[in-house]
Amino acid sequence: EASLEASDPAVFAAIKQEEGRQNDKLELIASENVVSHAVLEAQGSVLTNKYAEGYPGKRYYGGCEYVDIVETLAIERAKQLFGVEHANVQPHSGASANIAVFSAFLQPGDAILGMRLDQGGHLTHGSPVNFSGKFYDAHFYGVDAETGLIDYDECARVAREVKPKMITSGASAYPRIIDFPRLRAIADEVGALLLADIAHIAGLVAAGEHPSPVGYAHIVTTTTHKTLRGPRGGMIMCGEEHAKAIDSAVFPGTQGGPLMHVIAAKAVALGEALRPGFTDYQKQIRKNAAALAAGLTKRGFTLVSGGTDNHLMLVDLRPQGLTGRTAQLELDKVNLTTNKNAIPYDTEKPWVTGGLRLGAPAVTTRGLLEPDMDIIADCIVRTLTNVGDAAVYETVRRDVKSLCDRFPG
Ligand code: PLP
Repeated sequence: EASLEASDPAVFAAIKQEEGRQNDKLELIASENVVSHAVLEAQGSVLTNKYAEGYPGKRYYGGCEYVDIVETLAIERAKQLFGVEHANVQPHSGASANIAVFSAFLQPGDAILGMRLDQGGHLTHGSPVNFSGKFYDAHFYGVDAETGLIDYDECARVAREVKPKMITSGASAYPRIIDFPRLRAIADEVGALLLADIAHIAGLVAAGEHPSPVGYAHIVTTTTHKTLRGPRGGMIMCGEEHAKAIDSAVFPGTQGGPLMHVIAAKAVALGEALRPGFTDYQKQIRKNAAALAAGLTKRGFTLVSGGTDNHLMLVDLRPQGLTGRTAQLELDKVNLTTNKNAIPYDTEKPWVTGGLRLGAPAVTTRGLLEPDMDIIADCIVRTLTNVGDAAVYETVRRDVKSLCDRFPG
């Protein structure tokens, strides 16, 4: 049969260009990573051909004996890795996982309490433009304006006031440790369920580099493609008492056939995460993030909350008189890939923003260490303090290329 190159040169060429982009630029987007060849191979396998509605041993289709093996491996590995009683590995994405959890336990109109999107939360935690804000009565907590830390007192106050049925914790842009015991105490006080969405920090949690929500949150959701370093996808974990509700909320509640090729890749990634080297990798992510944060701070840049405890940081660009949008566009020109991000109490529009989010997972997979992160900090600062200066950009591009050459993708 014809190769992709022969049968569809347009798609093939774009994939090759993307491969080149990933090799020739440094990836600092906190939610991205670089998967292993084994993960890619599983995801690119013939399992994409198979329909398997239902769960292992209880499928609505014939011919599921081999995909049952694959899904069971993924489930068992997730259970072992996170120390949970039940795992559902079918959600197509982090958003799909959250949709399933909300639909399992809430009725339309029920009150929910989550972290503000513009202060680090996620769209699916109650934003008015998302299903979570359209179908439910969404309320919010945020971070303290001075410290940049989650304001648990505000969370408790709003919880007492609105009596949410579910409290959501977890964030897309929060650089510090999340206090799950504190959140559980708030949930217990008002009789709410606690959902911990650990999409960003799942790898750190699995390796003991961030406290685990297991034992505190009633339900844990995650993506599999961020610090966890698996294929794009979602996952839900809980105790036995919620297993049935979760499984039926995923299928038939909110999804049809599972993506068996992605589930195979999840199984492979979870297997990798169970190996000893994974803990070293997660430790290095934190060391690298800390080195990048220190490198930016010592060169005069401001970070929300003053630094990071995890894999990411938020640069407050207001002292530089720059927007996140400009910073992202200019850094792209020197081959550093980042994303603009709202900072707490931002006055810029979401498309512009006053901040930049930076993360270490992808460059750490590539093999960069603390001194390399300091070079990246220097490159960022040189670029953003000399916006539009072609000669400076040329020297930065040279330094980025030298890192890319030393650490081939
Ligand atoms: N939850 C959190 C905290 C996230 O950061 C994200 C993605 O950025 C998601 C959920 C959604 O994941 P997905 O993009 O796979 O739908």
